[in-house]
Amino acid sequence: MSLDHVVCPFCSLLCDDLRVDVRDGRASVAAQGCERARALFPVPAGADALVDGRPADPGDALAHAARLLARARRPLLAGLGCDIHGLRAAVRLAERSGARLDHMHGAAQLRNLLPLRRGGSVLSTLSELRNRADVVLLAGTLGAAAPRLFERCLDDSGQGLFGELHRRVLIVGSPLLRPRLRPAGAELAIDCPNESLGELFGLLRARLAGAPLQAASWRGIDMARIDALLDTLRAARYGVLLWDAGELDHPGADLAVRAMLDLVVDLNAATRWAALPLGGDDGGASAQQVCTWLAGYPLRMRFAQGVPRSDPLQRTADELLADDECDLLLWISAFDPARLPPPTRCPTIVLGRADMRAPPGVEVFIPVATPGVQQRGALTRVDQVVTLPLGAPAPASLPGVAEVLARLQQELVHAAA
Ligand code: SF4
Repeated sequence: MSLDHVVCPFCSLLCDDLRVDVRDGRASVAAQGCERARALFPVPAGADALVDGRPADPGDALAHAARLLARARRPLLAGLGCDIHGLRAAVRLAERSGARLDHMHGAAQLRNLLPLRRGGSVLSTLSELRNRADVVLLAGTLGAAAPRLFERCLDDSGQGLFGELHRRVLIVGSPLLRPRLRPAGAELAIDCPNESLGELFGLLRARLAGAPLQAASWRGIDMARIDALLDTLRAARYGVLLWDAGELDHPGADLAVRAMLDLVVDLNAATRWAALPLGGDDGGASAQQVCTWLAGYPLRMRFAQGVPRSDPLQRTADELLADDECDLLLWISAFDPARLPPPTRCPTIVLGRADMRAPPGVEVFIPVATPGVQQRGALTRVDQVVTLPLGAPAPASLPGVAEVLARLQQELVHAAA
């Protein structure tokens, strides 16, 4: 059987044009998908639940997990690699069990969220990018985490939804963005380490504001090149600035993001510019939305006596676990079997894809259905303005994350009664 227009759940681009074949209960990408989609669509139909590394009856594994959760005083629900229904159940379970919540890409998400909170900006969407953007500036990224970004949104057909569209794609940032990796037509405008992007954007803002500068060059780059870049940005009719906070993993990256957001605001005084932060894979974009809908705060957050508290400066899951600040880890990764829980001494429950190999030391492993392949679901796209329904081209009898978490919650209610 072949299915067309299948939505791919394996990065936050959520391409909705895949053709998927299904044979013997296993899905495979027949057309349109990228390498990541081709690797992740074929999910085994089932797997054993494990307790202490040994196969167990699914009901027994769930009961064991519920006992561990009932004993925990400072649980951490992390990973959160699931769809909106699973995330809703995770927030409800966190409320019930007084847990902290963090996503596996939480650190990268905060590099965007905190600067955005400090002053806002003007944000774009994938449709605007594809159909209107005549100048696109990629800061420190080639969009590797969204493999079809160029094909789907930055093609050079010369045509947008509203007529002719001749686009320039410029790159600033790391010399690691080597020419052979650079998509055709993209120009490396300024070659500098990603760590100095904050400086570069500060410089661009200063030049835009007409501030006199005595230096003739910056990091060996002639100021005339920086001014030429600025002229191109100023001449755009609709410019979009993209970056991926996951690739800006260095001290002060949030300041660089703030400088980018500020440049976008400054450019809007004379023309139209907008920002589009990439990232939010593994349900990350959905996690921010769901937590905000249900608890009033995005991640990171926690519940104390049933009251939600924003905790953006909470340390990462790895740090909390290393310092024994949590006494149970419940890790969720329903999309990618390679997203494993961080090492910890505390009891660990894993809800993972059927082909995940839970690391030694995991007390309970419960295989769950992959949304978009084995179970219907919904995910929020990278631009956070669209939530797409996911199909189930190869339905499996495995429970979904939402179902497992709801049953855990029921067990907690019974244990407390
Ligand atoms: S780019 Fe992302 S959404 Fe599109 S096919 Fe590849 S993994 Fe799937």
